Amino acid sequence: MAKVLISDNLAPEGIEILKDAGLDVVVKTGLKPDELKEEIKSYDGIVIRSATKLTADIIKEADNLKIIGRAGVGLDNVDLDVATKKGIIVMNTPLGNTISTAEHTMTLMLALSRNVLKAHASMKEGKWERKKFMGIELYGKVLGIVGLGRIGREVAKRAMGFGMKVIAYDPYLSEDMAKKMEIESVEYEYLLKNSDYITFHVPMTDSTYHVLGEKEIGLLKSTARVINCSRGGVVDEDALYKALLDNKIAGAALDVYENEPLKDSPLVKLDNIGLTPHLGASTEEAQVNVAIEIAEQVRDALGNKSIRNAVNLPSIDPEVLEAISPYLNLAEKLGSLLGQMIEGQVKNIEVKYSGEILSHNVNPVTSALLKGFLSPILMESVNYVNAQVIAKERGIKVEEIKSTEVKNFTNLIQVTVETSKGEKKVAGTLFSKENPRLVNVDGFYVEAIPEGCMLIIYNQDKPGVIGHIGTTLGKKGINISGMSFGRSIEGGDALTVLNIDSALDEEFIKKLLSSDYIKAIKPINL
Ligand code: NAD
Repeated sequence: MAKVLISDNLAPEGIEILKDAGLDVVVKTGLKPDELKEEIKSYDGIVIRSATKLTADIIKEADNLKIIGRAGVGLDNVDLDVATKKGIIVMNTPLGNTISTAEHTMTLMLALSRNVLKAHASMKEGKWERKKFMGIELYGKVLGIVGLGRIGREVAKRAMGFGMKVIAYDPYLSEDMAKKMEIESVEYEYLLKNSDYITFHVPMTDSTYHVLGEKEIGLLKSTARVINCSRGGVVDEDALYKALLDNKIAGAALDVYENEPLKDSPLVKLDNIGLTPHLGASTEEAQVNVAIEIAEQVRDALGNKSIRNAVNLPSIDPEVLEAISPYLNLAEKLGSLLGQMIEGQVKNIEVKYSGEILSHNVNPVTSALLKGFLSPILMESVNYVNAQVIAKERGIKVEEIKSTEVKNFTNLIQVTVETSKGEKKVAGTLFSKENPRLVNVDGFYVEAIPEGCMLIIYNQDKPGVIGHIGTTLGKKGINISGMSFGRSIEGGDALTVLNIDSALDEEFIKKLLSSDYIKAIKPINL
């Protein structure tokens, strides 16, 4: 009988499902890291929420473990790399708290509009201040949604029910898909300038960090109200504080913070803000939903029935998996690279395979590529199993081409992404099983190892450019571990790919850009 450890509080409905399936279920919450390290050795599966930290040294001891089930979405508490290397499937439940978070967003929007929080506080002080708390209606107002994923869409439906006009910014969703939902898809700047309410439903990524900062707040209407129920760090709290203090905008409501729990923040002293302590998913229903979802997933995976919402392993025959895993790795890297390079709304992705790789079924390789491509955008909610479905659902057309043409490389994966702002291309090959190489970027032949921190530099083929890059990085103490240079014609456009030992901040990228011969730089993290 397979043994499952439940190491965080889980709704009883989930525990029942596991027990009914005949599994040996042990509930032990609050274990200290050393206790868990000992305890975990005999289990086939473990179900956690956010409290249990499955660090590398704990997972290394888990010799029988096959499944880690996270009731919820975030996987910051699991060392995914070590789990994957040990062949442990890690799964989460991306659906269970969507409605709760959408409803919490509406709650905050309404509370802001009708001054509910302030009126309540004033009544508790024995006051009766009807004039002071004059509100506004949601009806007829423009709601700008940033991130039209699961929660963003549910918010849109509810806002439409209130008679609001919904516009949205989500560069990874096709315009047609937005239109089908009767939502106008707009550019971010337009959304900021024209919305009465702005609500964020994006994951925390490099591109969403402080996506509402001082500059963006400067574009908002003076009557605008901002809501953030997504992740702390998406909204720059210092910039928001200043804007609210100076009454540059009408109000804000936050559920999530850059540092949680929120401590010593000047935000709490403001009058025109509503704050809740990360309550988005805190409903009885959401807790039950995620417990049921994870219990069913763990039960089915341990019973060899199906693997759902696995974030780290494709559901492929183990023998086939071994043969194609170097390609999966290469494709995922190429996808991630492109996901970080593109600008604008994604329309099509073309994946062209040639050479030896065609002796395998390449469809899982396409899934790996899409997982890599969508991960910088969707984080934990995309996996090998759902990557193709998610791309389709977002209106992204994916074309798989098997080419018999073999030039220069014994195997090659060429990927072209078309967006509203143009095309981006990369190609990669395997020199050997353990040696993936990036061999083309936007038509320039290069040879770079696709891993770690990289810089893609669009420059001109002029004397001194490479010197400028090397000296500027050297002065900052950043080591270059690899460099490859490709050019079209002598003195023409060129491209440099660098592998560097640590990431660069924005200020430093600006310094590199100070050369007239460097046109653009894309920092990449693989
Ligand atoms: P999702 O993956 O379904 O949707 C995220 C959307 O953001 C996607 O459509 C994606 O294309 C879009 N996006 C990514 N980068 C973008 C960018 N730079 N600009 C505009 N759009 C961008 O995720 P979801 O389930 O809807 O969750 C949204 C957020 O809510 C996540 O950050 C999640 O962690 C958070 N969340 C918070 C709570 C809470 O308790 N407050 C509960 C659940 C989820």
